[in-house]
Amino acid sequence: MEPLRIGGQQTDSTVGNLMDSGTATAAGKPQSAIPLLDLKREVAELKPQVMQAIESVLDEAAFIMGNQVKQLEQEAAEYLGTKHAIALNSGTDALVIALLAAGIGPGDEVITTPFTFFATAEAISRVGAEPVFAEVDPLTYNLDLDSLEAALTPRTKAVIPVHLFGRPLDMERLMDLASRRGLIVIEDAAQAFGAEAGGRKIGTIGEMGCYSFFPSKNLGAYGDGGLLVTNDSRLAETAAMLRTHGSKRKYYNERVGFNSRLDEIQAAILRVKLPHIEAWNEDRRQAAARYHDLLRDIPGLMLPGAVPDGDKQVFHQYTVRVLNGQRDALQAGLAEAGISSIVYYPLPVHRLPVYADRGLTFPLAERLSQEVLSLPIWPQIEADVQEHIAGHLRRLMG
Ligand SMILES: *Cc1c(COP(=O)(O)O)cnc(C)c1O
Repeated sequence: MEPLRIGGQQTDSTVGNLMDSGTATAAGKPQSAIPLLDLKREVAELKPQVMQAIESVLDEAAFIMGNQVKQLEQEAAEYLGTKHAIALNSGTDALVIALLAAGIGPGDEVITTPFTFFATAEAISRVGAEPVFAEVDPLTYNLDLDSLEAALTPRTKAVIPVHLFGRPLDMERLMDLASRRGLIVIEDAAQAFGAEAGGRKIGTIGEMGCYSFFPSKNLGAYGDGGLLVTNDSRLAETAAMLRTHGSKRKYYNERVGFNSRLDEIQAAILRVKLPHIEAWNEDRRQAAARYHDLLRDIPGLMLPGAVPDGDKQVFHQYTVRVLNGQRDALQAGLAEAGISSIVYYPLPVHRLPVYADRGLTFPLAERLSQEVLSLPIWPQIEADVQEHIAGHLRRLMG
């Protein structure tokens, strides 16, 4: 199996089940000139500080659950504005552990969006609960809250909203609905580290929030990692206990848990990167604004819309909808011009082989899968690169 590379070249679709890779453009073709995400550049810029951080871990020779993890948890909690942050192995584990900490299991239903990375639903199935899907909003690509409300049953225990591509879901309305109907809200903020709704950081508004430090995420480690946040001390204690084999005290295991620790080297790298996230997210917003200006008058392309005042999206992806039915041809044309693009997600979750036998249908989510295309974006993307991409899009859209 090929090693997993994101910056500088296409992700390999043969490892698509290990990662959030969607359908890469140029599988099997020569390397594209413009990647989806240029991680090489970030690494080059941060290398001296990152090497120093790694060296300090080596000097300490404490590799698991040492100072770096503790300090990352404190710094992340402070940045996000939450009481507790628990560093974990991955965003997927954060979702699984959040569900277990909330006491969700067999017999319970959890509502989520069918237009997300599989891990969101997988976590629900993993704890033995039933993932229930609702329809999405074709403008925001997020869960449609009317459809969510219609999907509630007496067995519904929780909701997992996904802030897709870094765009905040309407949390005020969701929290109002959740408190009326007695639902636990676990935010999947894997793509939205640093995003805000109503002046609060996304991920800190529900009972628990889950982030991923997968390398391609807005705040990415140089390996796997994740974070669970909550203001509830009891949930935090349970999550921390599940992280280390269900024990609060070493060798006094109280329940069946996991080995889901973040390692010290990743924590040290993340501590180098965390102070930059606010500026990087602002740079992404500026890059998105530039795309908007460059693409707004191209017929047949629907661009991401503005968020309500007080909200901040973080453009994990810049995703357009191609309304002329020629999305795949457009993607092929871009690939021929050396421009990477990617389809997040080519199949909605309810149509994946794992759930297909349920025969569910959500027309809007299915339509999005046929129409969306994510364009190259990263904080330092240059204006002339975006102009070059826009020029080819304009030509190809005829
Ligand atoms: C990346 C991602 C996850 C999983 O995070 P990992 O760290 O890769 O386990 C979950 N949900 C969404 C929406 C994601 O994009």
